Amino acid sequence: MSDCRGKNADSHPTDSCRPPACRGAAKLPPDTAPNDPLGRFSRMIPNCLDYARRAKDAGRPIVGIMCEYTPREILMAAGAVPVCLCGGSAGTIPAAESDLPTNLCPLIKSTYGYHVTGKNPFLEMADLLVAETTCDGKKKMYELLSRTRPMHVLELPQKPDHPAARQHWLAELRGLVSVLKDRFGVAITDDRLRDSIRAMNRERSLRRRIGALMAADAPPLTGRQVLDLKSSISCIEEDLAQYETILAALEGTSGPAERAARVRVVLTGVPLPHGAERVMDIVEANGGLVVAADNCTGLKPIEEDIDADADNPLEAIADKYLHLPCSVMTPNDGRLALLGRLAAAYRPQCVVELVWQACLTYDIEATRVRAFVDQTLGLPYLRIGTDYSPSDSSRIAVRVEALFETVRGSRRP
Ligand code: SF4
Ligand code: SF4
Repeated sequence: MSDCRGKNADSHPTDSCRPPACRGAAKLPPDTAPNDPLGRFSRMIPNCLDYARRAKDAGRPIVGIMCEYTPREILMAAGAVPVCLCGGSAGTIPAAESDLPTNLCPLIKSTYGYHVTGKNPFLEMADLLVAETTCDGKKKMYELLSRTRPMHVLELPQKPDHPAARQHWLAELRGLVSVLKDRFGVAITDDRLRDSIRAMNRERSLRRRIGALMAADAPPLTGRQVLDLKSSISCIEEDLAQYETILAALEGTSGPAERAARVRVVLTGVPLPHGAERVMDIVEANGGLVVAADNCTGLKPIEEDIDADADNPLEAIADKYLHLPCSVMTPNDGRLALLGRLAAAYRPQCVVELVWQACLTYDIEATRVRAFVDQTLGLPYLRIGTDYSPSDSSRIAVRVEALFETVRGSRRP
């Protein structure tokens, strides 16, 4: 999240707490203001804060999460409210650098900076943090967080295809069930798991359908608008209702004709937490249209549902999350398979890979991704390495423009 404490949707227009005004002439959901197709999602942080405070007052625990490998379904089955704490603000990074190395992923530093400054109200109200062993930077940052914050760390197996990985992951999730039972005094039954699976499946399905709007030649939304249609807290009923309203208005429609002339881009790589959308904005401000994002703030975590009627719902949950194709896995063949599916469904003309500074797993995996995009998909590829500082925005824009020139040149006879 960006540093939105005390701010609201009327903040300054350049404030990352306030998503940019939506361009284009998409048909508007009926209960939405004429200049605001995103509706309540333009107030996502205040809405989540309001929801979390009411839940806490009602006795529900708040559980902070920092990665898509944490199964929200298990936390919800314990009656808790999972809240994503991933930092997207450059403003908290200097405070983090008192403990963390400068040359570290900005997502990790920003998240930790909120801890140091106490500026993330969700973190301050959290009864527990659930984290997992993903990249080294996160893993070691969690040790520092756990000095003063209650934390449970799941050990994520990193060879997902190994026969022992599933059993290990399942044991870790059983351990989480036990921790939640002891800490919050609630029994996590199969029925409760099935209910939370159904709730998350509903949200995933609605978000997939919104993502699918981008397959149109002239999509009714921009990539940035799709990115903004997500929430730090899943399954808030008003959010799901807003998704349904948007879909009722936009499915089967087209956006402005100029969108058909933009360069269709698949964005791959690291997630873009709330407040760190700069590279997507640069791509779309320079003639591109992000028709799909394969990252953790895009389609990756919502592509696969969970069978709520499986004999063992905890095993079904374990399977879904172990399939998540993050670069911390080795090998991570699922990511290339996902990229292939997105290319077939969304017809991109190029692939842009975003790698946060010092993210070694995504940076090294970029070599495989580039080769796959070039040789298998036959598309131009651009890798952008950056952090949360806007200092290189002009340079990134020049590189994006050059990529788009290449794409446009290859369209000509
Ligand atoms: S990119 Fe990997 S480590 Fe980061 S949130 Fe996604 S699954 Fe977790
Ligand atoms: S972007 Fe890379 S370095 Fe940063 S938290 Fe995710 S996996 Fe770790």
